[in-house]
Amino acid sequence: TIGMLALDASGNLSGACTTSGMAWKMHGRVGDSPIIGAGLYVDNEVGAACATGVGEAVIRTVGSHLVVELMRQGKSPEKACKVAVERIMQRFKGFEKIQVGFLALNKKGEYGAYCIQKGFNYAVYSQKINNQLFDGKSAL
Ligand code: ASP
Repeated sequence: TIGMLALDASGNLSGACTTSGMAWKMHGRVGDSPIIGAGLYVDNEVGAACATGVGEAVIRTVGSHLVVELMRQGKSPEKACKVAVERIMQRFKGFEKIQVGFLALNKKGEYGAYCIQKGFNYAVYSQKINNQLFDGKSAL
């Protein structure tokens, strides 16, 4: 899955996601990506979240909606992602062998992600960082 979350200059949130599906999937399987609340959820009052990994686990926890609701309760984006992954770990035995990760962005522009498996990466673009690079200053 590739998930993208954005906060525009007017303070509006948006998101999108794609999916590669799963290898050897059953014909007709529907993953989490096309299901709003599972693979992607955006609430313009609170934040946005998207998921990658085993869609069946994400669907059964309505994972991206869960991340947004945890942010609504005051959790940081990273902490909300972590709690959602932990919920999945509790619910699905053997989860440590499969991958599920979440990415989140809140209304303040704070972002975070969590995945227990290696190889989960995300990139951030912000006008502020871009301007620092353009000015020749280190953004890191
Ligand atoms: N979440 C996707 C699915 O279950 C798989 C992926 O692309 O990460 O269909």
